[in-house]
Amino acid sequence: MSALAPESWIQVTDRGLYVPPGGFYVDPTRPVEKAVVTHGHADHARPDHANVLATPETLAIMRHRYGERAGRSHDAMPCGQQRRIGDVSVRFVPAGHVLGSAQAVMEYRGSRVVVSGDYKRRADPTCAPFEPVPCDAFVTEATFGLPVFRHPDAADEVARLLAAQRQFPERAILVGAYALGKAQRLIALLRQAGYDRPIYLHGALMGLCQLYQELGVELGPLHPATGQAKPTLAGEIVLAPPAALNDRWARRLPEPLPTMASGWMRVRQRARQRGVELPLVISDHADWDELCATLQEVGAPQVWVTHGSEEALCHWANQHGFDARALAVVGWGEEDSDPEDKTAAEAAG
Ligand SMILES: [Zn+2]
Ligand SMILES: [Zn+2]
Repeated sequence: MSALAPESWIQVTDRGLYVPPGGFYVDPTRPVEKAVVTHGHADHARPDHANVLATPETLAIMRHRYGERAGRSHDAMPCGQQRRIGDVSVRFVPAGHVLGSAQAVMEYRGSRVVVSGDYKRRADPTCAPFEPVPCDAFVTEATFGLPVFRHPDAADEVARLLAAQRQFPERAILVGAYALGKAQRLIALLRQAGYDRPIYLHGALMGLCQLYQELGVELGPLHPATGQAKPTLAGEIVLAPPAALNDRWARRLPEPLPTMASGWMRVRQRARQRGVELPLVISDHADWDELCATLQEVGAPQVWVTHGSEEALCHWANQHGFDARALAVVGWGEEDSDPEDKTAAEAAG
């Protein structure tokens, strides 16, 4: 146990989590001079920082999304390397969330704090698996931090998708999936299941899928869905951002069968609201059991809980011998949980 209390060298500010002895922020929610960024989702990787330290993959994703606004200078640090920023040493350890996602492991005067960003514990063919790092304080997300959230095996969900594809040869199987991470993981899972037909993509998913391929993630044949003759897409799998499921774009597809891949699909009411006929519970976030197991494995005496159901996870952690508290960072969690989703989840819980 270190003499130095973790909360003495890390603060929550209106720009997010700040590390005074290093003069940097982790996943700052507004533009700052020095940012350490855990992964490319927009609520963690924001534009217009002066200096950004992140994994090479995360920086590539930021450049793809933000172009000129991805930050004035970039320091690409792969997992396994280390940097000294001010008096703090920083290294990255895989978080298993999306390509390039990493936990920021920070040490100052013998005290170690790990900011995990977002993470999951399930196998994902598109990124390196989460590694638990012993520490004095562990910052965890709680997106699915309620006991009602227990994600099924993703392979079983993909099998249900493929069963629908075989059952409806006259319909386009339209799958809503987030553009960064979920879309590519779903494609990789389909390939693992032996699906080798072309997969059709909404224009909004094309760029990041190409970037994943350039970064060495095999996704097989991908074609644009836009511009294809309607009959071509009958019996095919088409991926689109969730917002496109019910818009005009979807009406160009032959009798689309709306499905969606998200941890929120565990909430049936939420699926119905979106008009999803085939909900697929596939998440890039830890479910309740994974969150609890991770706290046990990491074994940090202090647990700081952010975005999601902070209260439930804090309660569980405090009952199990941790000193847990909610860390109110305004702006994290916007990518994966809108307030409507949260209300639905709480109602279901
Ligand atoms: Zn994320
Ligand atoms: Zn997040």
